[in-house]
Amino acid sequence: MVGSFLTAAIVTTNVVNSWELYLLYRHRLAHQTNVIPEAFRADVEPEAFRKTQEYSMDKIWFSMVCQVKNVVESTASLLALPTVWYGVETVARQSGFFPAGLTRGGFTHAYLFTLFADVTSTLLELPFSYYRTFVLEERHGFNKTTKKEFVKDTVKSFFLRAAVLDPLVVGLTTGVVKVFGEKFPLYLFGAAATLTAAATYVFPALIQPLFNKFTPLPEGTLKSNVEALAKSLKFPLTKLFEVDGSRRSAHSNAYFYGFFNNKRIVLYDTLVKQLEEKQILAVLCHEFGHWKHNHTSIMFVVGMLQLLGFCYGAQVALFHQQLYTDFGFVAGDQSAVMGFQLFSVVFFEPFSTLFGYLMSCVSRKFEFQADAFAVSMGFGQELRTALYKMQDENKSSITPDWLFAALHYSHPPLVERLDALEKEIKKSE
Ligand SMILES: [Zn+2]
Repeated sequence: MVGSFLTAAIVTTNVVNSWELYLLYRHRLAHQTNVIPEAFRADVEPEAFRKTQEYSMDKIWFSMVCQVKNVVESTASLLALPTVWYGVETVARQSGFFPAGLTRGGFTHAYLFTLFADVTSTLLELPFSYYRTFVLEERHGFNKTTKKEFVKDTVKSFFLRAAVLDPLVVGLTTGVVKVFGEKFPLYLFGAAATLTAAATYVFPALIQPLFNKFTPLPEGTLKSNVEALAKSLKFPLTKLFEVDGSRRSAHSNAYFYGFFNNKRIVLYDTLVKQLEEKQILAVLCHEFGHWKHNHTSIMFVVGMLQLLGFCYGAQVALFHQQLYTDFGFVAGDQSAVMGFQLFSVVFFEPFSTLFGYLMSCVSRKFEFQADAFAVSMGFGQELRTALYKMQDENKSSITPDWLFAALHYSHPPLVERLDALEKEIKKSE
């Protein structure tokens, strides 16, 4: 007999995934047009437009395949949870590696279970990421990764999770719940928030260099102009990097990171190559707009509130016996790691899908504000031409489905963005 919490989890996973599949289907249909949107008619050649549409259609088709894989994988993993949980324990006991014994639900058992889940999902994902890189991106001229680099990236990411992230997460959750019992939420939140804040320092300093090379932007007019612009805005720029994004892909980007008075800017070498200097400054001025309007801090606080909500929500679930037995666990077998997992699949994941839709909407508002800021600083025309250029170089979609864009786009559809930009430029003249 399938328990009601398990049924609820299977139903929600399937409903959410089918809904997402429907959104992708609509999004793909929206790309079957060969009518160039008004705003692009003067700038985009029919041949370039055809290539953009083909790239979008291929990407969306592939996302649909991945979505189907996800629904099968998550349904199977929901049903297999207790089998894997007890199976890992039995194999570990019989292996003889733990002569002192193995506590059910203790750190070692929970870590081995997490590791097993990680290995399985990594292996299942492998053919998909291989296809994405070497077939899809390759076909449209974006892939620059070699097979050797691909293997190295996969292995490095896996070991970082297996040796650092997984033990950290498992240790933290089992440890805090063990020590503080039902009073765990505030302590877990405190520890997780501290780790997240630390990660914003550790990630760019120690992890990212394992995958990419960050070199200080060479002396020259670009560097001095970026520094002058940052200074005029009182942006606390401490370092300016160029990253070798071209090593893997021809796509381009720019971003800043860091807390308070220690901010770093990273420019992709692809961006530096594709855009003119004033256009790069316009893109950075847009980034400064995010900083001026406190967008990154607001998003950080929202993320923290979500984490707090997760900790308090999990408190109810973690000690609720029926949640475990409904999934097929033996009565009395309650463990922190499994409790968090069950809480996630039954309650938190559907909630965070809805919350994600809301946050995309907020994020698009922020993008408009950042664009308006760049216009107010006198970079309107350059930002406009930069957006056209980046669209052309990245073959970004210009005919998205409105519903898909409304729920998933973190940036406004280009047509809307250019339209708003045009209005801001007129206003400032
Ligand atoms: Zn932005």
